[in-house]
Amino acid sequence: MKVKTVEDLPVEGRRVLVRVDYNVPLDDAGAIGDDTRIRATVPTLRYLLSRRASLILVSHLGRPKGKVVEGLRLDPVARRLSQILERPVAKVNDCLGPDAEAAVRSLGPGDVLLLENVRFHPEEEANDPEFARDLAAWAEAYVNDAFSTAHRAHASTVGVAAYLPSAAGLLMVKELDALGRLLEGLERPFTAVLGGAKVADKMGMIRNLPADVVILGGGLANTFLRAQGKDMGGSRVETDKLDQAREIMAHLRSRGVRLVLPVDAVAAPEIREKVSCRTVPVGRIPAGWQALDIGARTLELIRPGILNARTVFWNGPVGVYEVPAFACGSIMLARTIVEDSGADGGRFTVIGGGDAMAVSVRAGIADQVSHLSTGGGASLEFLEGRTLPGVEALASEA
Ligand code: ADP
Ligand code: MG
Repeated sequence: MKVKTVEDLPVEGRRVLVRVDYNVPLDDAGAIGDDTRIRATVPTLRYLLSRRASLILVSHLGRPKGKVVEGLRLDPVARRLSQILERPVAKVNDCLGPDAEAAVRSLGPGDVLLLENVRFHPEEEANDPEFARDLAAWAEAYVNDAFSTAHRAHASTVGVAAYLPSAAGLLMVKELDALGRLLEGLERPFTAVLGGAKVADKMGMIRNLPADVVILGGGLANTFLRAQGKDMGGSRVETDKLDQAREIMAHLRSRGVRLVLPVDAVAAPEIREKVSCRTVPVGRIPAGWQALDIGARTLELIRPGILNARTVFWNGPVGVYEVPAFACGSIMLARTIVEDSGADGGRFTVIGGGDAMAVSVRAGIADQVSHLSTGGGASLEFLEGRTLPGVEALASEA
């Protein structure tokens, strides 16, 4: 699906409503932890500011469920954004109403206003048309740069687009381009490495990705190995998903996809540091022990599938990486993905998912990947082949 981009939108000197995703982690004292999401919107904001636009930013934070929740106000975000942009960022305590109106009226070219958490109003998640129209009334154009909420049909992600000339921001465009390259026009061979805990999260993706090689690891692989009849000891296995796993394996076989499953595992009786652990072949996990990471033989087995690929996508750690004793497999995997990948002419590499991303940062390879997707659930739905309502709302007629 082709979308209109901010570069096609007349914004010179205009008031522009920008949907951003500033749903950042806050600690108990209300301080911002990781501000990646704020920084990720800066290219779009700077682009608009360079066109002398007035910016009216709208975002959600957390799950206030349609009510005002004091701890979920966006004031800390406004302060951090102001530091990052090195210019004042005004903030109002409601996204609609007289204060917002006065703030919008007083905006000049190059001014920035952050509206209050849009999910304080139940009409946001209900995609109420009147609420959307009222939000749209603040501006003369709409830019959506919140790819990570594009799978939700809410007033600020879909509804407002009906009332204003609309386009995708630069972050949204970057995500669509990179993830789109995993579905169409990709360079082969294409290897997908999928791990994580829950089968249900990844089924649609395993099915839809046009991969030549699918490598499974982590809790996800346990269920597939069990479905092949392997004794997985006390490992995390979703026994209600065994038939689905068998059906997916048959589907991959029929499409000529090479499926690689772990051959060994680091197993332990408990998930904690300093527990006695052992590397054992899958199928020989001691009773009551759990497979908590992939072993060295599995790492050797999956290396060529990654190194020979021209396109690699990775989502979901292959072990309980939160505990250092079981992080080795995921960290080595992350390093293999960027090994000899070169700046150009190398592999096109995409990493998606909060946990795989955390591993990449810990492995020190985050800046060597072609694209790190911050899209979360939206990325997964996109790669499942679903149309995201927030993207559809920006589709160009052509
Ligand atoms: P991502 O955020 O990259 O999409 P997921 O959220 O799907 O990844 O999965 C991450 C979780 O999977 C981590 O909390 C990790 O501890 C867990 N996990 C990985 N391997 C195993 C395993 N063998 N047994 C239990 N949990 C696992
Ligand atoms: Mg996760």
